[in-house]
Amino acid sequence: MSATDKRLQEDTPEKMTYYEQLVQGVRNAFLQGKTREIKFRKEQLKALKQLYEQEEAAICAALATDLNKPKQESILLEINVLKSDIDYILNNIDDWVKPEKVPANLVTIFDKSVIFHDPYGVVLVLGAWNYPMMLPLMPVTGAIAAGNCVIIKPSEMSPATAKVIADLVPKYLDPECFKVVCGGISETTELLKQKFDYIFYTGSPHVGRIVRDAANKYLTPTTLELGGKSPLYIDDSVDMDMAARRILWGKFINLGQTCIAPDYVLCTRSVQDKLIDIAKEVLKEWYGSQPNKSPDLCRIVSDKHANRIAEYLNCGTPAIGGQVNLEDRFIEPTVLVDVPADSKVMTEEIFGPVLPIVNIQSAFEAIKFINEREKPLTFYVFTTNTSVQNLLLQNTTSGSMCVNDTMVHMSVHGLPFGGVGQSGMGAYHGKASYDTFTHRKSCLVRNYNKIADYIGSYRYPPYSESKTTFLSNMLREYWMPSLKFLPYVITFGLGIASVFAAKEIAKAVGQDDD
Ligand code: NAD
Repeated sequence: MSATDKRLQEDTPEKMTYYEQLVQGVRNAFLQGKTREIKFRKEQLKALKQLYEQEEAAICAALATDLNKPKQESILLEINVLKSDIDYILNNIDDWVKPEKVPANLVTIFDKSVIFHDPYGVVLVLGAWNYPMMLPLMPVTGAIAAGNCVIIKPSEMSPATAKVIADLVPKYLDPECFKVVCGGISETTELLKQKFDYIFYTGSPHVGRIVRDAANKYLTPTTLELGGKSPLYIDDSVDMDMAARRILWGKFINLGQTCIAPDYVLCTRSVQDKLIDIAKEVLKEWYGSQPNKSPDLCRIVSDKHANRIAEYLNCGTPAIGGQVNLEDRFIEPTVLVDVPADSKVMTEEIFGPVLPIVNIQSAFEAIKFINEREKPLTFYVFTTNTSVQNLLLQNTTSGSMCVNDTMVHMSVHGLPFGGVGQSGMGAYHGKASYDTFTHRKSCLVRNYNKIADYIGSYRYPPYSESKTTFLSNMLREYWMPSLKFLPYVITFGLGIASVFAAKEIAKAVGQDDD
């Protein structure tokens, strides 16, 4: 344990001073203006990518220690996700940072109306343990791109990865602008007493409320990436073998500890039977007949969570799986049937390798079931029938939707990732990360044009009916034809004109020759 960590873990009055000093130090670094420079931001993003490239082995080892995470999952679902987000942001940042010009009204027609992009300042990122590398660091990419300084607090539940982050971040990123704080509830509580300019939290709705309460003290804007129960609807129009594999993969990677894992399945009895028949074969093919010996399954993060998930097995009949080894924090990938809608497994977020199936008769019943509950983080729909897809899309609300696959929507940089209602507020990934950490500052730059000033002078007293009418008309929103096709029309016009011109020139040259 580093000296800093030791100090952070001792609950002494000195600690208060330490946190105040920590945030003040980072604020001073922000006020120096370094992070506002685009060159600096790009350098830091490249350095962060280097961290992921050069320290891959250390990161994978830490993830294996914390969660028994297989190397393939560590690389594909943590390290590569972080790297490609950086690449995407680096490829686009020059365009994103440009001030946005907006059209004027008649009164300000001679002036400039511009939206500038300001960084918020000092950002606090609180990460969760289930993707313990990706979740605390992915928001950092966006915060850097937008020009902020960041204090990162990885989860104490994944201590090996938290240590890797604490050790490596200062080696690669500017140590004045980017700090890592390790610790648990008491450290988070102390951090939350400080004044930040933005707080980005990933975790449970329960702690999300605590974070929001703390943020209210300073009216700090927050993004809350929370959890909940993500439903999955499936009908018999699909290729069941392909669908089953996609569902089982999304559910059982990371041993079900994924915020957007399908939480439960809604389908008819006959679809359930087909799905279970195939799922039995697929799980055997993937994890063998003794899944606890498979190198491709993670472990549950803590005894407390393993006990919690094991209890869910009593909420229905295991059609597949059901084995538990609490000492090893292992729960076999399990599919539960005959599950009452009011049982624990259907009222709490599962966050583990248990997939309950609830029988419904139609897509309408699925809509009713989903809308009677909190708004989910993701809604999965498996059907090839586009009218059913549209019906479910238009009549439910969720943070995101993915049709005919699980998890893969997360890989599309252009799709913002975030929840709605109980599953969170705000979004990130790609451009959404840049936007999240950017304040769009409106600015009107007026000039001393005489005509404009004459128009503007109508606002000054003494007031009159005619002045009011004149200004009301000037400030009205007038419909204007869209000019977006103008460049094409001009190009087309120039094309035709050049053909005529070429013909005329050819004619003239021909006459000369005669
Ligand atoms: P958690 O909310 O229990 O804990 C998160 C962190 O908050 C902890 O590491 C701790 O430092 C701090 N904390 C805990 N109790 C606190 C308190 N009383 N006061 C101050 N700080 C406190 O969440 P978790 O167990 O780390 O993660 C699981 C939850 O996170 C699930 O609900 C899951 O769906 C959600 N999640 C969401 C996303 C997403 O992107 N939306 C991603 C991963 C996890």
